[in-house]
Order: sequence, then structure tokens, then C-alpha cells
Amino acid sequence: MRVGIGYDVHPLVDGRRLVLGGVVIEHRAGLDGHSDADVLTHAVIDALLGAAGLGDIGRHFPASDPKFKDASSLEMLAAAVESLRAAGFRVVNVDCTVIAQAPRLQPHLAAMTAELARRLGTDNVNVKGKSPEGIGALGQEAGIAAQAVAMLEEEMQNREAPSGRAASRPGHLPRPAGKGSPPPRQAGKGSRPSRRAGR
Ligand SMILES: [Zn+2]
Repeated sequence: MRVGIGYDVHPLVDGRRLVLGGVVIEHRAGLDGHSDADVLTHAVIDALLGAAGLGDIGRHFPASDPKFKDASSLEMLAAAVESLRAAGFRVVNVDCTVIAQAPRLQPHLAAMTAELARRLGTDNVNVKGKSPEGIGALGQEAGIAAQAVAMLEEEMQNREAPSGRAASRPGHLPRPAGKGSPPPRQAGKGSRPSRRAGR
């Protein structure tokens, strides 16, 4: 089992759609960013990549890439889940919190949960809404933040393998200690962690 944490925040600005967990929510303003700025989905992606030891969202979906301009973050999530699978992981569960002064999130939580669950390939998804209680920038509606944790399980693909031979695939074995995550399959093109995540 591996656990990962994700955090993201985007500014609220006029003239943008508000998309949270893939759900378009009626509001006076939306989140600013390179993609659809779906802060919740971005936090989930970072939690997944973190758990798998695959870096961060900026490495997989660079904001410098025009391909991700106004991109659907749910599609980015689906691609991230594909990368996890390629690296031998499956999602056990995801829990997240959206921190927003407005709008009220309660009526949308079920829809967000369903959208995320569909891409994650598990129903073990939980989305919570939290008010910052008027405190600080988030409380003054300067932006919306999200946090997520993800638990992954390594798929036991080599369970059938004769015990001695399995050692030839260290990426899929229970690890002795810390280190040694499976190499990211997609990290190819000189991608290095970028400060500006794929927003
Ligand atoms: Zn983001």
C-alpha cells in the first residue's frame, strides 16, 4: 500500500466557468488557470502521482504545453490513472476536501464524487466541502483550494511467478524499505518537475 497527498489552489476571477471535480457549478466567478482550473481534480491527480512516486501534475501535464490549454482536468485524471496502471498500481481509495467560502458545495458533492469515481475506477471516493469561515484570502473568496489523499495498491501481477524469478521485477515486489518506486513510463521527454503545474 502506498499513500499520497495532494494540494492545489486557484484564484477566483470573473469571466471563467467554475469547474470542481468535473462539475460545472453556477457561480459569479470561476477559477483561473491554464486548463479548466479544476482545483479539486488537480489535488486528486497530485495525490495519485505522489502515492505512485511519479512526480507531480506539472511534470505530466506542463502548463507550457498548448495541448493543455483549457483542457478537461477529468481527462488529465484519466491519463494519470492510466500511468498508475502502467506502473502496476490500482487505486484503493481517495478522500478530498474542497475549501471554498462560496458557493455552497453540498448540493454538488455527489456529482463530483461520481465524476471522479468514474475516472479512478473505484467507488471508494469521498469529497467533502469546507468553509474557511471568512478567514484569510480563501475566506474573502480570492480563490478556492483543495486537498486530497490517495491510497494505492500494487497489483500482484507476479503472484503466479515462481518465487525465485519474481525478483527480476523489483518494481512489483514488496519493497524492503522506502525507495525504489517503479520508473515512470511517461517521464520520457526530458520532463522535469516544473514549478508551474499543469493548470
Ligand atoms: Zn491546479
